[in-house]
Amino acid sequence: MSNRQKRFFLQEDEIPRQWYNIQADMVTKPLPPLHPGTHQPLKAEDLYPIFAKELCHQEMDQEHAWIDIPDEVRDMYKYYRSTPLVRAYGLEAALGTPAHIYFKNESVSPVGSHKLNSALAQAYYCKQEGITNVTTETGAGQWGAALSYAAKVFGLEAAVYQVKISYEQKPYRRSIMQTYGAQVTASPSMSTRAGKDVLTVDPNNQGSLGTAISEAVELAMTTPNCKYVLGSVLNHVALHQTIIGLEAEKQMAMAGEYPDMVIACFGGGSNFGGVAFPFMRHKIKDGKQTRFIAAEPSSCPKLTRGVFQYDFGDLSGLTPLLPMYTLGHNFMPANIHAGGLRYHGAGMIISQLLKDGYMEAVDIPQSETFKAGLLFAKSEGIIPAPESSHAIAATIREALKCKETGEEKVILFNLSGHGLIDMTAYDQYLAGSLTDIEVTDEEVARNVAQLDKII
Ligand SMILES: *Cc1c(COP(=O)(O)O)cnc(C)c1O
Repeated sequence: MSNRQKRFFLQEDEIPRQWYNIQADMVTKPLPPLHPGTHQPLKAEDLYPIFAKELCHQEMDQEHAWIDIPDEVRDMYKYYRSTPLVRAYGLEAALGTPAHIYFKNESVSPVGSHKLNSALAQAYYCKQEGITNVTTETGAGQWGAALSYAAKVFGLEAAVYQVKISYEQKPYRRSIMQTYGAQVTASPSMSTRAGKDVLTVDPNNQGSLGTAISEAVELAMTTPNCKYVLGSVLNHVALHQTIIGLEAEKQMAMAGEYPDMVIACFGGGSNFGGVAFPFMRHKIKDGKQTRFIAAEPSSCPKLTRGVFQYDFGDLSGLTPLLPMYTLGHNFMPANIHAGGLRYHGAGMIISQLLKDGYMEAVDIPQSETFKAGLLFAKSEGIIPAPESSHAIAATIREALKCKETGEEKVILFNLSGHGLIDMTAYDQYLAGSLTDIEVTDEEVARNVAQLDKII
């Protein structure tokens, strides 16, 4: 017992030098994004007005399985990577399960979540291409915090549109962004056409990610030398996040194990793709029978109850049409505490992989996620982000199945972030005032019916 190893780290020179692009290995490639007006398939060049060029190419690359991580980005990764792979002995004991539970602890990044892995890469490419300003949206503020820091590292100005309800309810995330030097605006705002349109109809609108994306994209398109950056959903974001799974693969080997299941929470798919894709390549190429499970909130169930359809990424329809599982871009998710999971759609790669049966999804009620988060905090000492608690809850479900069957399955989940700035949510749970919000079939059907049937 006393000799057992709890945490596994890589040496600096073992940190991966390339990201893994699963598109190159996919049997059925994702359908192309379409121009929002003409419905014609987009080429990388069509995205140049919005994103840095290199990111446009990464987005559309279905050819190269391995993409070099620039030295400048890898040098910044060394500030907090490798992140530890941890054997959750405490949680195993608390559950009395024979399963071996491991988690990859992305909460140790300076900003407290996995989001920095892509923020650093995106800020670097912008700087390389002579861009001076970046703009983005943020919900709970995790992405905004990561981008604000990454912009500072590479000498860029950052303008962040934060969903108004979070701006007011999570003031510390706003302070964090401002501490790194970003300009933060509550969305909807009067500073853009998209924001004005929403406020004219509904002056008390509390905002949504869809609206905030519209505002940021509009700013990028109307400001010289300014590009838009996105913290999830897109292929290039998941690409950068594969550093998580590539490290985990080496660390699992150090532990002498290989996962039977890989689990992550699901907002747009970047931390899920990040931890899962490197292992999934062995399922695609070598026929390994690993299960991949995405855990989403039951109040925003796009993977389990949405439709596979072309849809916009934002509320106003400024973004390209993306082939994805979606609840419809007009879907207004309930105000759950896992703000990072309140998005109507899923990434294109993941949508195709789910459709083709390479992975599964489960939806979990809010109260079950907090119960899981508390058990994890008590048994492993780390207070998880409400988003990450979805992965923990899905892991607990599987570990309890192992308890029934006596199977010693190996489970790996991604701890995408810590919850130390989300204590208001924990307070509400402890006070018994958290509610579960279910979406009705009628609501899903009504939203989805508004989509153009392009597929
Ligand atoms: C943003 C966020 C998520 C959800 O985003 P994905 O792109 O689905 O990974 C999950 N966990 C944390 C801590 C986040 O900040």
